[in-house]
Amino acid sequence: MSANAQQDLQRRSLAAVWHPCTQMARAAVAPPLPIARGEGAWLFDMEGRRYFDANSSWWVNLFGHADAGINNAIKRQLDILPHVMLAGCTHAPAVELAEKLSRLTGGTLGHTFFASDGASAVEIALKMSFHSWRNLGLTNKREFVCLKHGYHGETIGALAVTDVAVFRDAYDPLLMRAHVVESPDSRLGPEQEARAVADLRRALTERRGHVAALIIEPLVQCAAGMAMHEPSYLRAVRQLCDEFDVHLIADEIAVGCGRSGTFFAFEQGECGWPDFITLSKGISGGTLPLSLVLTTEAVYQSFWSDDVALGFLHSHSYTGNALACAAANAVLDRFAHDQVLEQNIEQARLLAQAFAPLARDARVEHLRQRGMMLAFDVKLPGDRFAERFHLAARERELLIRPIGRTVYLMPPYLVDAATAHFLFDAVAATLNEVLSDAS
Ligand SMILES: *Cc1c(COP(=O)(O)O)cnc(C)c1O
Repeated sequence: MSANAQQDLQRRSLAAVWHPCTQMARAAVAPPLPIARGEGAWLFDMEGRRYFDANSSWWVNLFGHADAGINNAIKRQLDILPHVMLAGCTHAPAVELAEKLSRLTGGTLGHTFFASDGASAVEIALKMSFHSWRNLGLTNKREFVCLKHGYHGETIGALAVTDVAVFRDAYDPLLMRAHVVESPDSRLGPEQEARAVADLRRALTERRGHVAALIIEPLVQCAAGMAMHEPSYLRAVRQLCDEFDVHLIADEIAVGCGRSGTFFAFEQGECGWPDFITLSKGISGGTLPLSLVLTTEAVYQSFWSDDVALGFLHSHSYTGNALACAAANAVLDRFAHDQVLEQNIEQARLLAQAFAPLARDARVEHLRQRGMMLAFDVKLPGDRFAERFHLAARERELLIRPIGRTVYLMPPYLVDAATAHFLFDAVAATLNEVLSDAS
């Protein structure tokens, strides 16, 4: 393919495709990169140049692009049954997936509700929590608590519990009011967790009897800029939710599926389970849109009735799509048979080792890691740091999108020693270039 073909596609994309999370006026200056194919951790443009997908294509990819095992599972399902509605019908891929997820929670979250994207899973968890309390006669419980700088998606309900200014500000007048409490972000110092717990207690005390659920991203608030906290925070919130009779929603859309070192990040709290877990992104290995909400017997039972209006009412056309479920089953089989979590411990160690020199680099701060998520903040980023870093990294075969002044890696689970060193060298060289430009 020629340079002309690549530029032609860029031009047509700018004319016809409205890109997400993008100011199109900037895209006209720095046009989107046409990707022709993917193989393992690498993406290839139309001129044959390659780029390491360091952010796993918005955190969805687990085992690389065009993974043969997952692809074969989808292809097999494609010839059998691509899709059937999940109301009035059921199918083996959905049932098997729900059973596998139930087993991963020791049966505690034994009921799975399906949707297609992360934001919808959040909407479902919020609606289900509210409706569950209502069915129990607790109609005042219709408020939600969320964390400062938390991210739970960008539909109107999910955005109401999202506290990331850039996504929220323009739409704020449209949104339901939620209570935003302190984040346990460990960058804010050793006292921050205690402050965050105290602030949550304050909010739950002030709104006692009115709060349906607390929603959190366990261990890492990803879109906030990889803000990390300790598992002890999870124990504290589980306790407070029990004390105040509030549902705990663990949004594991980004941190689930082995990212954090355990299959579910919440497991590291060693304090039982949340009342809801939302999953999406990695669950289908970066192939097809799928999301799920897992919940408990208690929540499920609160809807059990002959009355349709007491049932949970929420549906999407592609709910429980059979192709996406087949992909997710292949992903979970990989975890069951290939020691993925054990291998991730080793891969995370290789990343930590390779990036250790950054801890002594005066230009950066807060080098931090949780499993297969590694991040650091640049002290004096200068204007348009994220965009300049992204473009400079491309020249070094690295596809990466910093969040503000936070540079992070969330690679596919395909890191060996050579890859870890390639990633460090590319990040360090990009940093040198971008920061020397700024001065
Ligand atoms: C990405 C994300 C969502 C939203 O998922 P979409 O599929 O993009 O709608 C929700 N919560 C968290 C924690 C996420 O990272």
